[in-house]
Amino acid sequence: MSKAAAIDIASVSKVYGATTAVHAISLKVPAGSYCCLLGPSGCGKSTTLRMIAGHESISSGDIRLGNTVVTDLPPARRGTAMMFQSYALFPHIDVTDNVAFSLKMKGVAKDERRAKALEMLKLVQMDPYATRRPAQLSGGQQQRVALARALITDPEALLLDEPLSALDPFLKIRMRAELKRLQTTLGITFVHVTHSQEEAMALADLIVVMNDGRIEQAAHPREVFERPATAFVARFMGDHNVISGRVTAATESGVTVAVPSGGEFTATGGVREVGESIDIAVRTDKVRIGASDAPGLGFTGIVDNIEYRGASVKLTVSGAGVQDFTAIVSDAAFFAAPVKVGDAASLAWGPEDSIVLGRLDS
Ligand code: ADP
Repeated sequence: MSKAAAIDIASVSKVYGATTAVHAISLKVPAGSYCCLLGPSGCGKSTTLRMIAGHESISSGDIRLGNTVVTDLPPARRGTAMMFQSYALFPHIDVTDNVAFSLKMKGVAKDERRAKALEMLKLVQMDPYATRRPAQLSGGQQQRVALARALITDPEALLLDEPLSALDPFLKIRMRAELKRLQTTLGITFVHVTHSQEEAMALADLIVVMNDGRIEQAAHPREVFERPATAFVARFMGDHNVISGRVTAATESGVTVAVPSGGEFTATGGVREVGESIDIAVRTDKVRIGASDAPGLGFTGIVDNIEYRGASVKLTVSGAGVQDFTAIVSDAAFFAAPVKVGDAASLAWGPEDSIVLGRLDS
């Protein structure tokens, strides 16, 4: 197996006519890491991946793989391999010849290339199916073949475009574990495009959250979850309430924010000026039902919705100028003092659960 290579994306843009799909992004993916490009449809994930692979030209900026600038190299000379969403297997040849195809193109002799293909099929546990045609395989099995075919070139980085999206939910979780195992075994760099927060959290060492052709945050999953950089990340990851308002007081440790025709809230972790318009985030799972013991760390509102989730209960409450504020409380805490839709409820949280969010320069 070949070595892993770091990927260095330096001020890379992609312009299609009047549309800028990617706005001068910079990103360093360490060698041997599992990186997920995460974001909603149309945010530029696939375009970025295709530019790394060489399937899309770069409008400006440079991409390095290891020490080599690959910006102008064709896909086959970059040291990358790409696995496509559709798998793109050839229907008329068997699994082994599908996997061996790129070696055939390079002029490798038949016995040698079939032996190497079998080795790759063993790696993805598909050697018992070596003589089948793609149509005789399930979706999950076809995906393993596509993986083996991508890996036969000994890439330094494997690029995967929504690799799990065609699988049913059960298989998706199984293949997710397989991908992680494969990446750990091979030790090469993986860049995986997904719109699923859960998938990215489960797989990545580095999550790159993209929005509208820009990178909102690139960090370890735990940091993205605990310290979302922007309101977009906090909302997209789905585990934070975002409250927007104007700073009325600022100290070294935090701020007080007034919500238009609503309450005042405090948050830590950002130096801001009085009068500035900002966003703060409150973790949904840290909110408790009950009166707050400190000003700015809670409010009283009307319960809009209640969802029972087994181990927890999700409440949506509006009040103090804040709409649809979500609290996830344990089932025990909820049923100890249950509330109904339309009731008034007080919510509270701790000073460490409310943080100041940044905004991207645009
Ligand atoms: P994602 O993978 O995050 O869904 P894409 O990278 O596919 O997003 O697309 C980013 C943006 O670029 C979208 O607005 C899309 O419509 C546009 N785009 C992608 N490919 C092309 C193309 N070949 N020509 C014109 N616009 C494109």
